[in-house]
Amino acid sequence: MRRVTSDPLDALSPATLVVVAAGRPDRAQGAPVNPPLVLSSTFVSQGVPGPGEPLYGRMDAATWHPFEETLGTLEGSTHPALVFGSGMAAIAAALSLVPPGGRLVLPRHAYQVTLGYAQDLRDRLGIDVTLVDIDDTSAVVGALSEPRPASMLWVETPTNPMLEVADLPALVDAAHAVGALVGVDNTFATPLVQRPFEHGADVVVHSVTKYLAGHTDVVLGAALADDDALHARLHAYRTLHGSIAGPFEVWLALRGLRTLALRVERAQSNAAELARRLSTHPAVAEVRHPSLPSDPGHERATRLMDGFGAIVGLRPHGGPDAADAVVAALRLWVPATSLGGVESTLERRRRFATESVTVPEDLLRMSVGIEDVEDLWNDLAQALAAAPRPL
Ligand SMILES: *Cc1c(COP(=O)(O)O)cnc(C)c1O
Repeated sequence: MRRVTSDPLDALSPATLVVVAAGRPDRAQGAPVNPPLVLSSTFVSQGVPGPGEPLYGRMDAATWHPFEETLGTLEGSTHPALVFGSGMAAIAAALSLVPPGGRLVLPRHAYQVTLGYAQDLRDRLGIDVTLVDIDDTSAVVGALSEPRPASMLWVETPTNPMLEVADLPALVDAAHAVGALVGVDNTFATPLVQRPFEHGADVVVHSVTKYLAGHTDVVLGAALADDDALHARLHAYRTLHGSIAGPFEVWLALRGLRTLALRVERAQSNAAELARRLSTHPAVAEVRHPSLPSDPGHERATRLMDGFGAIVGLRPHGGPDAADAVVAALRLWVPATSLGGVESTLERRRRFATESVTVPEDLLRMSVGIEDVEDLWNDLAQALAAAPRPL
């Protein structure tokens, strides 16, 4: 994804781009190397401000720009990303592209609150919502045209928390053939591992809260569109709904983004190593990680992604009680929801009554962090040894 340009700073690899994310510092003696955090809500203006001149903090903020431009470049978009107050605010903006009375096809195992929002759209706007198994390409293709053409296909890949891998290029082709837009939630993969625009997606969203910010101290979202008209609609949505981000959150996220390549590389290698060891552990009934050659998503992930991500699904022997016992016995791993932070966390997803009933009761979703892999393994091994064994 190197861009051809005469400026050497425009032809950087993603691992360098994230470091340079702060932009191009003014090289004057004494100039700050990092972009300033500007908290002003309004800016001096008289008469009609010219294009790009700061006016008011809901419309634009200079502190957003380095993050928005870097994420836009990483995703391969011609436009900067648009930051939003949370991942859900970005998802709401993207789903606003489905017209009232339209049809939305989305994964059965999409992010739980995305599913809740789709239900809200159905109740309020008469949007017809169809849930699909996103890794079952022929089922998705069928759902796109029957009973009537879809307005939008929503894709998460790998899915949360089941780690199903979609055949994204095939789904994009099928969606476009019926005139549907394709929105992709790229939170799990990050643009270092998967770039949906390369496969023809129309809109990409992120919960920046997760890997992009990466330090479990920010709630933030982003939406991207490559097409001029779609980008303008998302931008207008943000300004009209006021679903903006605070400058400080974006400044923190930029700091996190600068280590994204290192963090993702380490977290992915930790995840693959732990998945490999767990797959032969006697207390383990099932492990899901696309890095495992036996995993149903392995072939597609190898073909379509530049890595396998750092989320692992674990089902210990002994059912939900054993899964809860594993969580309780861990000392280093943190029992918590969310994912993508430097620290390893895990949770039994079905502890939430709202989680899809097709998610196994005993499934632990593990977000593997960047700690030393032996420390993570030792803690898991002692917790699995403490959990009840099958008879
Ligand atoms: C967390 C998450 C979201 C929601 O993002 P927030 O920043 O919590 O609003 C959306 N999609 C996925 C895949 C997520 O993991």
